[in-house]
Amino acid sequence: MKTSYEVVVVGAGPAGIAAAYSAAMCGADTLLIEKSGCVGGMSTSGLLSAWCGSCSSGFYQKVRSLTTEKRVRRCVYSPETLKTLYLTLLNEAGVNLMLHTSFIKANVKNDIINSIDILGAGEVFTVKANVFIDATGDGFVARSAGVPYCKGRETDHLMQPMSLIFTVGGVDDSRAVYPTFKTHPDIQQKMQEYVEAGKIAHPAGHVILIEGYHSGTATVNMTNVIMSDGTDVADITSAELLTRRQVPQIIEFLRECVPGYEKCYCLQTAEYIGVRESLHFEGDYTLSENDILNQTIFDDWVVANAAFSFDNHNLTGSGVDKGNLKYNGERYTIPYRSLLAKGINNLLLSGRNISGTHMAHSSFRVMPISSGTGEGAGVAAALSAKNATDLRDVDIKRVQDILVGRFGGELPKPII
Ligand SMILES: Cc1cc2nc3c(=O)[nH]c(=O)nc-3n(C[C@H](O)[C@H](O)[C@H](O)COP(=O)(O)OP(=O)(O)OC[C@H]3O[C@@H](n4cnc5c(N)ncnc54)[C@H](O)[C@@H]3O)c2cc1C
Repeated sequence: MKTSYEVVVVGAGPAGIAAAYSAAMCGADTLLIEKSGCVGGMSTSGLLSAWCGSCSSGFYQKVRSLTTEKRVRRCVYSPETLKTLYLTLLNEAGVNLMLHTSFIKANVKNDIINSIDILGAGEVFTVKANVFIDATGDGFVARSAGVPYCKGRETDHLMQPMSLIFTVGGVDDSRAVYPTFKTHPDIQQKMQEYVEAGKIAHPAGHVILIEGYHSGTATVNMTNVIMSDGTDVADITSAELLTRRQVPQIIEFLRECVPGYEKCYCLQTAEYIGVRESLHFEGDYTLSENDILNQTIFDDWVVANAAFSFDNHNLTGSGVDKGNLKYNGERYTIPYRSLLAKGINNLLLSGRNISGTHMAHSSFRVMPISSGTGEGAGVAAALSAKNATDLRDVDIKRVQDILVGRFGGELPKPII
């Protein structure tokens, strides 16, 4: 087995796939490591089906245009189609892929990750690279390399709830409703009553239903676990058990209380529970809610025209968090410096583990923007590895030229 590459990306979610694809397209010998048996992270194994927010990353726009259809109210994709498309794109770019392979440990000397230890099919290997990209969502590479971090919200270290997504079939499309936090108060009220009566395990309590890609199906985002740490194996195991107990109870509720779902049944549960928030790492720059609200156009932007609301779910119950700031709907940029991990010279952060505050993270954590940070990381990593340049000396204008001129992204739109 080959054990040395120019760029190694750990984690094949929306960020890691975009990172590996763009690094390889820029000519870097790239390895992508993923612990699951397929690629896509939350966008496939997590059973999500709707892109929230947007950005003008060329990779994201391409993937979206090849997978996504307008259904009743929302544009949705099939996770199965996405799995295959991602593999096709990675193959076209010449990315080396290792599935069923988990990152274990970063071997650091003098602020450089010399190699990482990985576990594949029961064997431990050591892999070297010029540049590593952490796309694990939780930042396992950065944590192992000793990058400083803060857990969850700065004031009390609480993290957003976790949820196990599942899909249902047998939905009557002609009558089905698709509630979110702010719609259908009557149905939300009934759900609360079910939880209070002990018919659904606490702290479930809100109703979010998304039209499925295939007729007669819907995606259910209603299981809920609070005050639990997705980076603690005991916590996340308990969270898996609790949400799997909630699934049949929620289906019973849907049959009894929600129009169009009287005959619904469970089609599929996600491979694993989704972690919305965990560790916030220190980068050369920590993106804040003020940067988002002020639509700061950073000179060293690697994501342009990002847009999504502040979306913290209730950290201590069900529903939406009351502390969310009001979002003005305008577009923002993400600087390269938020991808540079403090204290380590050859590591880039990407996806939901870039450097940002709890509030800013609730906006940039979504799949389109995670793809955007992955794409930026991949281009910068390739330039650094191919030109033997320190990550902090990469020519950022050249990165931006590639993101726009080669990958079809857009320049940041000026504030009007
Ligand atoms: C319940 C829930 C619902 C959401 N709903 C939406 C939505 O509707 N729309 C939207 O746009 N966003 C949504 N999000 C946000 C979005 O899914 C994520 O924030 C996004 O997927 C982040 O992308 P990522 O690539 O950083 O991480 P992930 O998608 O989490 O991918 C990380 C990858 O790294 C792999 N990995 C982790 N550890 C290791 C390891 N040690 N070794 C090897 N591989 C490893 C994982 O298996 C995974 O494939 C939701 C999130 C959650 C939790």
